[in-house]
Amino acid sequence: MKTTAKDWLQRIRDLPLPGKVRIMNVCGGHERSITLAGLRGALPPEIELIPGPGCPVCVCPEEDVYQAIQLALQEDVILVAFGDMLRVPVNVPKKDARSLEQAKARGADIRPVASPQEAAAIARDNPDRQVIFFAAGFETTTAPVAGMIAEGMPDNLQILLSGRLTWPAVAMLLDSETPGFDCLVAPGHVSTVMGPEEWSFVVDKHGIPAAVAGFTPESLLAAIYSVLRQRLEENYFLDNCYPDVVKPGGNPGARRLLDETRDIVDANWRGVGVIPKSGFALAEEHAAHDARKAFPDHDDASRKRAGEMPPGCDCARVVLGRIYPNECILYGKACTPRNPIGPCMVSDEGACRIWWAGGVRTQAGAA
Ligand code: SF4
Repeated sequence: MKTTAKDWLQRIRDLPLPGKVRIMNVCGGHERSITLAGLRGALPPEIELIPGPGCPVCVCPEEDVYQAIQLALQEDVILVAFGDMLRVPVNVPKKDARSLEQAKARGADIRPVASPQEAAAIARDNPDRQVIFFAAGFETTTAPVAGMIAEGMPDNLQILLSGRLTWPAVAMLLDSETPGFDCLVAPGHVSTVMGPEEWSFVVDKHGIPAAVAGFTPESLLAAIYSVLRQRLEENYFLDNCYPDVVKPGGNPGARRLLDETRDIVDANWRGVGVIPKSGFALAEEHAAHDARKAFPDHDDASRKRAGEMPPGCDCARVVLGRIYPNECILYGKACTPRNPIGPCMVSDEGACRIWWAGGVRTQAGAA
């Protein structure tokens, strides 16, 4: 018989927890399920569920968003991007376009897409125009981009690639003196592509319990139960609580496409800084489709600095799990989904937006 969410909750409540346990997730989908299902309130108070670096839109460096805006405004191109990216703000004087959405309002030809195939279709439908696909995302988004490249792209389509690998951000936290968590719920979608083994270092190198989870409350609670029990029994291993979908080795076809089309490079994470070997760059053989090479004038190196969130925005600490979204002083006051100040309130995968969608309307500590 299938174990229900209620069963998992009871098993967790029955564990003899000796004190506070901090469990980090690094996936916007996980955070959404946890928040919308109300898992925090249902679990024993000793368990803290901490949203970590799980939002690719939030960590997309400000200089890349700025570059996309300038390309759209100053070149005769169609710029396409995933819808979330359109409202991500950059730090510019009020008179300038602050987002792709504002650039569009000033006449730039900017179109939201839901997939790489849609970007390719727009290029095919507009053979006389140059189309630039601003592709920001983690492994699960970059793999379909790799597939599109391997299939053969229209000559008039170029890519402004801003892809990131998830695990190096977790490695950076664990290598720091203050990782801020005791157990990890590893991302299911990423593991589907890359294989669960990518997260073995959490256990093998750092002695931290880890479990891959899917997106249902049942799967998340199974992973939470697993890491808690591992911790209690001091028997650490990488558990797979999403076995129907996550297989050893991941998806070999998708991994091969990624290997063939991109290099791994050091990459800037917005508000965090450069994380070694955490970014995707188009491989040299695809340079003809690399918007960074075609339009080098819009690559403004002076913008490449860590900590460049909008004034007052605490997204960097939210992304790293240092604070909860409603500990930012702007949460729900100056910053709401209708008027987002930082990227974490823009994206569907951003913790601030998820918490708002989950009904958290007050700041931490407020009555
Ligand atoms: S509430 Fe708004 S300003 Fe504060 S961290 Fe979140 S996105 Fe940034």
